[in-house]
Amino acid sequence: MLTYLIILLDDTSVSYCHYEANRKERRLISIDDLKAGIMFAMKENLNVQFVYPDYELPTEYLEAIDCIDHTDIKPVAKSEVADVVVLSGWDDEVPENATCIIHSSFEELTGHVTTVNDWLRRMTRLNVVLTDVDKFKDDDIDSYKKALEALADSVIEMCRQGGSAQLNLLTDRLMLTEMNNCGAGDNNVTLAPNGKFYLCPAFYFEDEKQSLGDIKSGLHIKNPQLLRLDHAPICRQCDAYQCRRCIWMNQRLTMDANTPSHQQCVVAHLERNVSRELQMKLDEAGIRLSDSHPIEEMKELDPFNIVNRWK
Ligand code: SF4
Repeated sequence: MLTYLIILLDDTSVSYCHYEANRKERRLISIDDLKAGIMFAMKENLNVQFVYPDYELPTEYLEAIDCIDHTDIKPVAKSEVADVVVLSGWDDEVPENATCIIHSSFEELTGHVTTVNDWLRRMTRLNVVLTDVDKFKDDDIDSYKKALEALADSVIEMCRQGGSAQLNLLTDRLMLTEMNNCGAGDNNVTLAPNGKFYLCPAFYFEDEKQSLGDIKSGLHIKNPQLLRLDHAPICRQCDAYQCRRCIWMNQRLTMDANTPSHQQCVVAHLERNVSRELQMKLDEAGIRLSDSHPIEEMKELDPFNIVNRWK
């Protein structure tokens, strides 16, 4: 069921996910399309997430945005009033007590474990968005696992000292009892600066022709069931509940939006398994997180390899 509308305010709006926002020329959504998008969200009872560029919007835009309850996703340069802050890199001066997103390659992450540890103490939450999942190789398994384990040790230390830490790669899975995937095209769609709907911003930036209708003629998703978890034979059996299950990456890597790549599954299972180790170590230390749920042991990193068990 559609629950969220993401409104990309400008072609230079910050990226909050796996895609690269690489357009340099401004193209602000028209005020009419913005107001129509807000009206659409009101009629459909959708939560709106606005994604901002790094420049100040005209007053009439800010007034229109304020007409509806919403979430602001902003670049760090505009982080004073934001619900989610997208950092521009590892050298940023990070806002205190904020929910932040950092884009990172695997190599950058393994080289910045200490930085992440420091940030976790100062932020409410950190989401690491990995930018090169498509290039992940089985040879990278050990180094990613080691980085996750070092981060898990740091989470334990913070909990021992009476604090807490929220890191999407590790702590989300502890709390989840069902899939919490991206849901693009299922529970959310994107309205782009050209006034057209897309499954998510990545599809817009990749090719504007992939639109799903526009704000005037309406939203038209062909065969929406083919994007849903209940039509994904592997994912619906899986319990790497924190996995993004990115349909844009699926489309690029497997030519089917609902079929995951080996890379995405292995990465998600490494996170799942280190989350399990984290949970056991927290238990051993007598630290019980409320809403934490047991995670079963699973050695296989790619669910495709155990598909016969589910037949
Ligand atoms: S780990 Fe693989 S099978 Fe599991 S939800 Fe993610 S993409 Fe689907």
